[in-house]
Amino acid sequence: MLAIIAVLNGIKPAFMGDEVEYLEEYKEAGRRLGLRVLVTKRPPTDAYKIRRPLVPMSFIKAYHGAVEEKEKRTAWLFRQTGTSERISHSISGQLDEGYVLGYPECCIRAYGEDRAMLVETVYNYIVDRYHAKTEEDAVKVLLTDPPFPAPKSRIHESFEKFPFISHVACSDCIDGRSQKSSKLNQELRKLATEVGLKGRIVESMADLLATRLTRVVKR
Ligand SMILES: [Zn+2]
Repeated sequence: MLAIIAVLNGIKPAFMGDEVEYLEEYKEAGRRLGLRVLVTKRPPTDAYKIRRPLVPMSFIKAYHGAVEEKEKRTAWLFRQTGTSERISHSISGQLDEGYVLGYPECCIRAYGEDRAMLVETVYNYIVDRYHAKTEEDAVKVLLTDPPFPAPKSRIHESFEKFPFISHVACSDCIDGRSQKSSKLNQELRKLATEVGLKGRIVESMADLLATRLTRVVKR
């Protein structure tokens, strides 16, 4: 909800709501607040605009074929007409959706790097652990849905340090070398206080940190 109000206040250019069960609520909230509402398919997670993983293409295809639900819809809420062009670039895979959602450049790049590295880690794990000799072997193993060690992630630290932002902060932001996430978090905290959402957000973030730490959040 805060992210939607942030769009209304010009702190964020757009909001993207991709939880299918809330799609109607997102649309209703957008209409009530006088925002533009667009429902589209989700931006592709296999476009890798920041960096392509250094593994065979067939493996990347199988990786996303296995985990993606491509047909799902997503609702976008925004104010300015120009934003719809950026949204369509994001859906066609030309632009990382982080740029449409107003995330800091440093965090978008770090997240893109992490996503590429995750696929590489899975690939290398399959090659080492299952002795896959060819890319076909690696794909075959992947399709059996084997267990993998949990990937390293900054999600916990990011939520803990910046509870009001809706992206995963990069390590520069977390360690204070970049002020981008900190500034955005401050603006959103101020807004949350003004609209009376601060207590609820702090509480739900504490719950989230306590119960869902190991879940890998997909954007
Ligand atoms: Zn950052």
